[in-house]
Amino acid sequence: MTDAPNYGFETLQIHAGARPDPATGARQVPIYQTTSYVFRDADHAAALFNLQEVGYIYSRLTNPTVAALQERIATLEGGAGAVCCSSGHAAQIMALFPLMGPGLNVVVSTRLYGGSITQLSQTIKRFGWSAKFVDFDDLDAVSAAIDDDTRAIFCESIANPGGYITDLDAIAKISDAAGLPLIVDNTSATPYLCRPIEHGATLVVHSMTKYLTGNGTVTGGCIVDSGNFDWSASGKFPSLSDPEPAYHGLKFHETFGPLAFTFHGIAIGLRDLGMTLNPQAAHYTLMGIETLSLRMERHVTNAEKVAGWLETQDSVESVTYAGLKSSPYHDRVERICPKGAGGLFTIQLKDGYDACIKFVDSLEIFSHVANLGDTRSLVTHAASTTHRQLSDEQLAAAGAGPDIVRISIGIEDADDLIADLSQALEKASA
Ligand SMILES: *Cc1c(COP(=O)(O)O)cnc(C)c1O
Repeated sequence: MTDAPNYGFETLQIHAGARPDPATGARQVPIYQTTSYVFRDADHAAALFNLQEVGYIYSRLTNPTVAALQERIATLEGGAGAVCCSSGHAAQIMALFPLMGPGLNVVVSTRLYGGSITQLSQTIKRFGWSAKFVDFDDLDAVSAAIDDDTRAIFCESIANPGGYITDLDAIAKISDAAGLPLIVDNTSATPYLCRPIEHGATLVVHSMTKYLTGNGTVTGGCIVDSGNFDWSASGKFPSLSDPEPAYHGLKFHETFGPLAFTFHGIAIGLRDLGMTLNPQAAHYTLMGIETLSLRMERHVTNAEKVAGWLETQDSVESVTYAGLKSSPYHDRVERICPKGAGGLFTIQLKDGYDACIKFVDSLEIFSHVANLGDTRSLVTHAASTTHRQLSDEQLAAAGAGPDIVRISIGIEDADDLIADLSQALEKASA
C-alpha cells in the first residue's frame, strides 16, 4: 500500500505493509521461506553489509514476510519503525539492550506480567542491569526512583493481571523531564484500544503471542519505535549516538534519524542476539491482525458483560475490570483506552486458594492455561502457575494473591461464558 496516512485503523490492519508480491502478483503476503538472498554482485553485497543500502541479506536480520508485519504494526501504533522478534520477552530484552549496560537501571511498574517481573527482577542481573520496582500510581515514587544510572522507564498500558490502566500521560511527563525513554508494553491493550505513542511513549513492545495473533498459535514479539526520542541529547545512549565499531564508526542516530532504534535493533540486536521471528510465525500474525479490531470489540463487550455479572455473585469478593464503574481505574478508560478496557481482569474468591483451585478445575469452556488474549476464554490461577516464582510480597503487589484468578475473556457467546462460570463457582463454594 502506498503512504495513506488518512486511512482508518480497520483499513490499515489489512493493508499496511502489504502490497501485491512484486514477483508473482500474489495478493496475500507470501511466506518467504528462505534463509538468504542472492546479491546482484559483490558491490551490492558490500553496500548491504555496510548499511549503505537497505535490502535483504540473511533471514536472521531481515525477511520480506517479517518486514511486512513490522510495517503493519509500526503503522497501527503510529511509530516510525518496528522490529519483530521471537517472543514478547525477547522484545523486552531487545528494547532495553541498546539503552542499558553494566551498573545501569530501569524503573519499572510493580504491575506487570509475572514473567516480566521475573525477567526484570532476576535474569537481567546477569547482564549487570537492574530494575527498580515502583507503584506507578505513586508519581512521586516514580520520580524519586530515577537516578543518574537510570536509562529507561517501563510499564504496561493495560497491566497484567488485573487489567489496571496506567496513567501513561503522567508517566511520560516524568520520563520527559528526566530525559529518559518511556517503554510501554501494549500487549493487553493492542493499538486498537490504546496508542501509547500518542500518550508520550518512546518505544512500544508487544507479545504478539497474545491478541495480535489472537488465537494461540504463535510465539512472537515486536518493538515499535516512535522515532521521537533524541538519543544524542544527553550522552546517556552511546550505542545509538556514538561511533559503532562493528560498522566502521557509523553513528546510528546521526545516520538514520528517527529510524535509529529500528536499524540498531536489526543491525546489532537481531544480528548478535539472534532472537529472530520466523516467516511462518509472521504470516500467522499478519492473518491475525487483519481481524484485530473486530476481535477486540468483541473481547470488550464480552468482558463488560461477564465482569458485570461476576460482580453480583456472592462467592466473588471483587472484580478488577477497569470497564466497571466500581474500578478505581474506570475514569482512565476514556482518556487512555477510549474503545474499552480490554478483555483481561482478575476475580477474588471469598473462599480463598482452595476455592480457586476447584473453580479453575471445574470450568468447561474456559481452559486453565498460562496464556491470555486468545479467541477462546482462558483462566490462570497465577499464584500456583505463572507467578509461582514470586514472593508473597511481589504476589500482592502484582495483584496475584492466592485467592485471585486471572480471566481472559474470549470472543465466544457471553451467555455461554456466564453459564460456565456460574456452574464452576457453585462447585467451588460447595
Ligand atoms: C505474555 C506477555 C509477555 C511475554 O510474552 P511472550 O511472547 O510469552 O514471551 C510480556 N508482556 C505481557 C503483558 C504479556 O502478556
